[in-house]
Amino acid sequence: MPFSAWRRTGVKTRGKGDIHEIQRRQHGRLFILWILESDNHYHSTDWRTDVPGQVLGVDYYPMKRSGISYVDYSGFNLVTGCTPVSFGCQNCFARRMLAKFNPGRDPDQVLTNNAIILKLRREKFAIVGNKREPNTSRPLVFVNDMGDLFHRDADPASVRLFFDVMAFRSDADFVVLTKRPERIGEVLCDGRILKYIPESQYPNVALGVSVESQAVAQPRIETLLRFWHGRNLVSAEPLLYPITLKSWLKRLDWVLVGGESGPNHRPFQKEWAETLWWECGAAGVAFFAKQDSGYQPGTPLLIDGHIIHQWPMWK
Ligand code: SF4
Repeated sequence: MPFSAWRRTGVKTRGKGDIHEIQRRQHGRLFILWILESDNHYHSTDWRTDVPGQVLGVDYYPMKRSGISYVDYSGFNLVTGCTPVSFGCQNCFARRMLAKFNPGRDPDQVLTNNAIILKLRREKFAIVGNKREPNTSRPLVFVNDMGDLFHRDADPASVRLFFDVMAFRSDADFVVLTKRPERIGEVLCDGRILKYIPESQYPNVALGVSVESQAVAQPRIETLLRFWHGRNLVSAEPLLYPITLKSWLKRLDWVLVGGESGPNHRPFQKEWAETLWWECGAAGVAFFAKQDSGYQPGTPLLIDGHIIHQWPMWK
């Protein structure tokens, strides 16, 4: 059954715990998803219908380590499918993978899969063997690598609930990237009469923008910083032109840089990454050289002959 039209109806108090309720109507029938919680402990989650005793199943999969070099886990795709927004999207990995593994599916079609909210809610992350050790053993989780959570066709109520669940998972840190920061306010501030999202709202979530050139870096970073006052990052990948981030580094936590990979990868020059490395070093901002351009993803990107993999010291 498709989960694309769920509507969040709110959080209700129930004894010691809360009920997060989202619902949808399909063919005249009401379907309700309740996420129950109590004392920070997850109790139970079911897909329930209005038919007594009928429970709709949810699939769960064993947790695998991520292939993304700067996080420990990934793959929680609330939103799949996307439409290109700028030059950087030309060889989009997500759209390519969707087309490859879902024959017949239009990668432009944006679907919201609310079962992922439950998966994220109950997933168990290992607390050893994570990449940021020994500074912290907290797992770092990249969410939604198969689309953009802030796409206009993503269900805003589901995205808000997804962010709430990330905040609830106080045992882990999360990374979200978007190319549509102009929708952060509309999606996350909706109904909360907030002009921006304070750090306390989602203290363990880092929200960032992907940029490929100076022309898109300026509006995206400035919009991000206006609406989002929590942990942040800029992912300059695939970087297609030289850029400078000096104007914003005082307010940034983390800069990632990488060239494009895949069969149609475009040119990338190491000097662009070296410039950002020197700028970040001078400003005391964590820097991560993710990959050089090449057919295969993960080609090491050496800065002055060294692999530079830094993470911010988030408290
Ligand atoms: S915004 Fe991201 S997911 Fe969407 S088309 Fe562009 S690169 Fe792909």
